[in-house]
Amino acid sequence: MNRCHATNVRILLFLVATLAISTLACSSPGEPKQETNATQDPINVIFAIHVEPFLPEFGYDYGARRQELRWLRDKALEYGAKLSLASNGEFMEWIEDFGDEDLVESYLDAGFDWGTHIHPLWRRGRHDWVLMPPDTPPDTVLLIWQTNVDAVDHIIGSENNYGVAPYQTHQPLMVDLMREFNFHIETALTEPAGILAYENLGHYPFNPFRPTALPGKYLKEDLNQTQYVLIPHYPQLEPNPGPSGPRSLGTNQKYFLMEYIEWLHHQRQGLPKKVWVFGIATHDCYNAPNRAYIDTMLMWLNANFIGKRTPTGWVIAEYASATEVASEFFEWEESHPGESSFSWDVGEPYPYTYPEMPQLLKQAEYDTEVSIADGIACYRFRRTSDSPIYVLWSWSETQVIDFSSEISGEVKVYDGKGSSATADASALAVTEEPIFVES
Ligand SMILES: [Zn+2]
Repeated sequence: MNRCHATNVRILLFLVATLAISTLACSSPGEPKQETNATQDPINVIFAIHVEPFLPEFGYDYGARRQELRWLRDKALEYGAKLSLASNGEFMEWIEDFGDEDLVESYLDAGFDWGTHIHPLWRRGRHDWVLMPPDTPPDTVLLIWQTNVDAVDHIIGSENNYGVAPYQTHQPLMVDLMREFNFHIETALTEPAGILAYENLGHYPFNPFRPTALPGKYLKEDLNQTQYVLIPHYPQLEPNPGPSGPRSLGTNQKYFLMEYIEWLHHQRQGLPKKVWVFGIATHDCYNAPNRAYIDTMLMWLNANFIGKRTPTGWVIAEYASATEVASEFFEWEESHPGESSFSWDVGEPYPYTYPEMPQLLKQAEYDTEVSIADGIACYRFRRTSDSPIYVLWSWSETQVIDFSSEISGEVKVYDGKGSSATADASALAVTEEPIFVES
């Protein structure tokens, strides 16, 4: 190549670069200015299954439960979702009795998790599991854990037993038992932790964390507690409410959108990386009447969020097993020593960006996405005793839109951080930061 040609190439490259920069600078409102580098990885969506003990409130029909586990496996494979199952001990005895080990293998082969779910029942003999009272002394709790963990290990081997979803085991005993059984993962937010989260934060934590061993401080983090990570997920997806609030399809969708809104804030601001998790749940014995809700939830996630990019280029969510979330978390810890993932205790301020968001959406359920203008995200939430409330944001710069097709006249606008104003619906200013709008 002669010198003259090289100079021409350099000039050409300069022109191309200048053109590229001016194109980015000239983007019109509504179009993303440019692809911003993501600081946050996609939101991990986990799907937890708790296999319940054989008690009157859960029923005794092993065949029906097995049918639901097959349905869940096939549904998850259809949608690309990953199941994180935890089973009580006696269920594993039935699996052996019926020669259903292939069902368990099909879960493990699919990359799903299979672990232990513990209610206060210990094994006196085969199919003779004894229910103990809630105030059972620690050595009996140890026995309960031992017999349930052994029963699961017997079928899948301890190396495949990913972790535990315990019921009614609280700190400080919890951390001792996790150490005793060498578990590193707890899934679920066992009551009363779920109630504490719902009543004070309006949702479950958006991030996994290492719970303190201090009694009663269910949402407080202790970075020196190096035994296990808690991966929260919501309770059974069903129309009926529970002690930690509504559990409906629309409520689960709302919870996902609340987390999405927080995650977007971290992306826009380029905040340091965190690990994000959103979890839905079902039970072997409660799944049949809720199949349609679960199916719709997965369909909605797939259609809008799983593997999908925002207009700014960020991949929103992906399915993950609990073990995958845990390994992402352990890696994050290594590269972010001493950093908090999530922590909250009574009396402390709301631990995320929009302290008023849970209050604004408290009585609301997700209704639909609204196509209102180019470059604007808009979601509508219905309320049984009130008019709908909306959340909107712009993907690039502030845009003034006509919102009259949804609400006409004067509207109330909230920023989710404590400020509110009124605006004319025909000239509503939508910012990159979300706004909450009602009549
Ligand atoms: Zn349970």
